[in-house]
Amino acid sequence: MKILYAPWRSSYVKFGGKKPKKESGECPFCSKFEKGTEHDAEHLILRRFKHCVVMLNLHPYNAGHVLVIPYMHVPALHLLTKEIRTELIEVTTTITKLYQELFACDGLNMGYNSGKASGGSVPEHMHIHVLPRFIGDTGFLAALANTKPISFEINTVYAQLKEPFAQLQIDY
Ligand SMILES: [Zn+2]
Repeated sequence: MKILYAPWRSSYVKFGGKKPKKESGECPFCSKFEKGTEHDAEHLILRRFKHCVVMLNLHPYNAGHVLVIPYMHVPALHLLTKEIRTELIEVTTTITKLYQELFACDGLNMGYNSGKASGGSVPEHMHIHVLPRFIGDTGFLAALANTKPISFEINTVYAQLKEPFAQLQIDY
Protein backbone atom coordinates (compact mmCIF):
# COMPACT_ATOMS: atom_id res chain seq x y z
CA MET A 1 0.00 0.00 0.00
CA LYS A 2 1.23 3.43 -0.90
CA ILE A 3 0.85 6.24 1.64
CA LEU A 4 -0.10 9.37 -0.23
CA TYR A 5 -0.46 11.76 2.65
CA ALA A 6 0.80 11.49 6.20
CA PRO A 7 0.23 14.76 8.06
CA TRP A 8 0.92 13.21 11.46
CA ARG A 9 4.51 12.64 10.45
CA SER A 10 5.38 16.31 10.07
CA SER A 11 4.10 17.19 13.53
CA TYR A 12 5.97 14.16 14.87
CA VAL A 13 9.20 15.38 13.32
CA LYS A 14 8.59 18.98 14.32
CA PHE A 15 7.99 18.19 17.99
CA GLY A 16 10.74 15.61 18.24
CA GLY A 17 8.40 12.67 18.56
CA LYS A 18 6.42 14.22 21.43
CA LYS A 19 2.84 15.30 21.12
CA PRO A 20 2.50 19.10 21.33
CA LYS A 21 0.67 21.00 24.14
CA LYS A 22 -1.67 19.79 26.85
CA GLU A 23 -0.25 19.07 30.24
CA SER A 24 -2.37 17.35 32.87
CA GLY A 25 -5.35 16.82 30.55
CA GLU A 26 -6.31 20.50 30.62
CA CYS A 27 -8.26 21.72 27.57
CA PRO A 28 -6.20 24.44 25.84
CA PHE A 29 -9.39 26.30 24.82
CA CYS A 30 -11.46 26.03 28.01
CA SER A 31 -8.50 27.07 30.14
CA LYS A 32 -8.31 30.35 28.18
CA PHE A 33 -12.06 31.02 28.16
CA GLU A 34 -12.27 30.56 31.93
CA LYS A 35 -9.78 33.37 32.53
CA GLY A 36 -11.12 36.93 32.64
CA THR A 37 -11.47 39.03 29.49
CA GLU A 38 -8.48 41.09 30.65
CA HIS A 39 -6.38 38.12 29.44
CA ASP A 40 -7.99 37.98 25.99
CA ALA A 41 -5.16 39.80 24.19
CA GLU A 42 -2.54 37.50 25.66
CA HIS A 43 -4.62 34.52 24.49
CA LEU A 44 -5.21 36.06 21.05
CA ILE A 45 -8.98 36.13 21.63
CA LEU A 46 -10.38 38.64 19.14
CA ARG A 47 -14.01 38.59 20.17
CA ARG A 48 -16.32 36.83 22.59
CA PHE A 49 -19.90 36.22 21.54
CA LYS A 50 -22.73 34.75 23.63
CA HIS A 51 -21.90 31.10 22.83
CA CYS A 52 -18.53 31.21 21.10
CA VAL A 53 -15.18 32.88 20.82
CA VAL A 54 -13.04 33.91 17.87
CA MET A 55 -9.36 33.39 18.51
CA LEU A 56 -6.27 33.64 16.31
CA ASN A 57 -4.74 30.24 15.69
CA LEU A 58 -1.47 30.04 17.58
CA HIS A 59 -0.08 27.90 14.75
CA PRO A 60 -1.49 29.75 11.76
CA TYR A 61 -1.28 28.76 8.17
CA ASN A 62 -1.84 32.33 6.95
CA ALA A 63 -2.18 35.71 8.64
CA GLY A 64 -5.79 35.89 9.77
CA HIS A 65 -6.16 32.16 10.45
CA VAL A 66 -8.82 32.16 13.17
CA LEU A 67 -10.66 29.53 15.15
CA VAL A 68 -14.34 29.87 15.98
CA ILE A 69 -14.80 27.90 19.20
CA PRO A 70 -17.95 27.29 21.25
CA TYR A 71 -17.62 27.62 25.04
CA MET A 72 -19.29 24.22 25.20
CA HIS A 73 -16.60 21.55 25.43
CA VAL A 74 -17.73 18.82 23.02
CA PRO A 75 -15.81 16.92 20.31
CA ALA A 76 -18.33 17.22 17.48
CA LEU A 77 -20.64 19.68 15.77
CA HIS A 78 -23.75 17.54 16.24
CA LEU A 79 -23.25 17.52 20.03
CA LEU A 80 -23.77 21.27 20.31
CA THR A 81 -27.25 22.61 20.95
CA LYS A 82 -28.99 24.07 17.95
CA GLU A 83 -28.78 27.58 19.42
CA ILE A 84 -25.01 27.33 19.89
CA ARG A 85 -24.48 25.74 16.49
CA THR A 86 -26.52 28.48 14.84
CA GLU A 87 -24.37 31.18 16.40
CA LEU A 88 -21.18 29.31 15.48
CA ILE A 89 -22.21 29.14 11.82
CA GLU A 90 -23.45 32.75 11.75
CA VAL A 91 -20.17 34.01 13.24
CA THR A 92 -18.16 31.88 10.80
CA THR A 93 -20.18 33.13 7.86
CA THR A 94 -19.71 36.75 8.90
CA ILE A 95 -15.95 36.23 9.15
CA THR A 96 -15.81 34.88 5.60
CA LYS A 97 -17.53 38.07 4.41
CA LEU A 98 -15.23 40.28 6.49
CA TYR A 99 -12.14 38.53 5.12
CA GLN A 100 -13.17 39.02 1.53
CA GLU A 101 -13.49 42.75 2.21
CA LEU A 102 -10.44 43.10 4.46
CA PHE A 103 -7.83 41.00 2.69
CA ALA A 104 -9.16 41.02 -0.86
CA CYS A 105 -8.04 37.39 -0.77
CA ASP A 106 -8.27 35.04 -3.74
CA GLY A 107 -10.22 32.52 -1.68
CA LEU A 108 -11.05 31.21 1.78
CA ASN A 109 -10.97 27.94 3.64
CA MET A 110 -13.48 27.16 6.31
CA GLY A 111 -13.09 23.78 7.92
CA TYR A 112 -13.67 21.49 10.84
CA ASN A 113 -11.57 18.47 11.78
CA SER A 114 -13.56 15.82 13.62
CA GLY A 115 -11.97 12.95 15.49
CA LYS A 116 -8.40 11.90 16.18
CA ALA A 117 -7.74 10.73 12.62
CA SER A 118 -8.71 14.06 11.07
CA GLY A 119 -5.44 15.87 11.74
CA GLY A 120 -6.98 18.28 14.25
CA SER A 121 -4.76 19.27 17.15
CA VAL A 122 -7.55 19.61 19.77
CA PRO A 123 -10.08 16.92 18.76
CA GLU A 124 -11.80 16.96 22.18
CA HIS A 125 -13.11 20.52 21.75
CA MET A 126 -14.62 21.11 18.34
CA HIS A 127 -13.79 24.33 16.50
CA ILE A 128 -13.99 25.78 13.00
CA HIS A 129 -11.01 27.13 11.12
CA VAL A 130 -11.38 30.13 8.83
CA LEU A 131 -8.47 31.42 6.82
CA PRO A 132 -7.88 33.64 3.84
CA ARG A 133 -6.17 32.03 0.86
CA PHE A 134 -4.04 33.49 -1.88
CA ILE A 135 -3.09 32.14 -5.25
CA GLY A 136 0.26 30.40 -4.88
CA ASP A 137 -0.03 29.19 -1.29
CA THR A 138 -0.29 25.44 -0.64
CA GLY A 139 -3.18 22.97 -0.71
CA PHE A 140 -6.31 22.64 1.37
CA LEU A 141 -5.21 19.61 3.41
CA ALA A 142 -1.93 21.24 4.36
CA ALA A 143 -3.83 24.36 5.38
CA LEU A 144 -6.24 22.65 7.74
CA ALA A 145 -4.30 19.69 9.08
CA ASN A 146 -0.80 21.07 9.21
CA THR A 147 1.25 24.14 9.94
CA LYS A 148 4.08 25.76 8.07
CA PRO A 149 6.75 28.31 8.93
CA ILE A 150 5.26 31.77 8.67
CA SER A 151 6.74 35.19 8.18
CA PHE A 152 4.49 37.50 10.15
CA GLU A 153 4.27 38.49 13.78
CA ILE A 154 1.08 37.17 15.36
CA ASN A 155 0.65 40.05 17.83
CA THR A 156 0.75 42.53 14.96
CA VAL A 157 -1.97 40.56 13.19
CA TYR A 158 -3.98 40.54 16.43
CA ALA A 159 -3.70 44.33 16.76
CA GLN A 160 -4.80 44.79 13.15
CA LEU A 161 -7.80 42.47 13.42
CA LYS A 162 -9.06 43.49 16.88
CA GLU A 163 -11.12 46.47 15.67
CA PRO A 164 -12.70 44.82 12.59
CA PHE A 165 -13.79 41.93 14.81
CA ALA A 166 -15.14 44.30 17.47
CA GLN A 167 -17.35 45.80 14.73
CA LEU A 168 -18.75 42.46 13.53
CA GLN A 169 -22.54 42.37 13.58
CA ILE A 170 -24.23 39.01 13.83
CA ASP A 171 -27.80 38.49 12.66
CA TYR A 172 -29.56 35.90 14.79
ZN1 LIG B 1 -12.53 22.60 26.07
